[in-house]
Amino acid sequence: MSDDLRELYQEVILDHGRRPRNLREIPGADHRAEGYNPLCGDRATIFVALDGGVVKDASFVGRGCSISTASASMMTEAVKGRTLAEAEALFERFHALVTGEPAPAGGPDLGKLAVFSGVSEFPARVKCASLAWHTLRAALKGDAVPVTTETGAE
Ligand code: ZN
Repeated sequence: MSDDLRELYQEVILDHGRRPRNLREIPGADHRAEGYNPLCGDRATIFVALDGGVVKDASFVGRGCSISTASASMMTEAVKGRTLAEAEALFERFHALVTGEPAPAGGPDLGKLAVFSGVSEFPARVKCASLAWHTLRAALKGDAVPVTTETGAE
């Protein structure tokens, strides 16, 4: 990656970390789940409102480092208007990106989420970047148990 691109990516992450989008609760959300990353102390509660199997609205509340906040902010933007299957496919692509694994074939384009590609070089930050996504997945599955990245999730 060129230095210019790296800088641009950092700016996007810093911007979302400072001014997170969709930082609010959704009253009467169809799905919600809480996530916690004890390695860093990041906490995120994800809210999802569905309309006929499509994500009508997604939001989060919580506190965390700038990577976890930016990731939650950009995730809520990325999944809006997606079907549940598309949201799951985005999760898989994003997870592959931040863990440095090969991307699964097919599926939606990551778009702006590609700014997190540098995270794979920092193993300690992978859980910061993936917390919101694991929590989203738990919310959509309706798991009542709070998500922690210490249960083997990465
Ligand atoms: Zn963190």
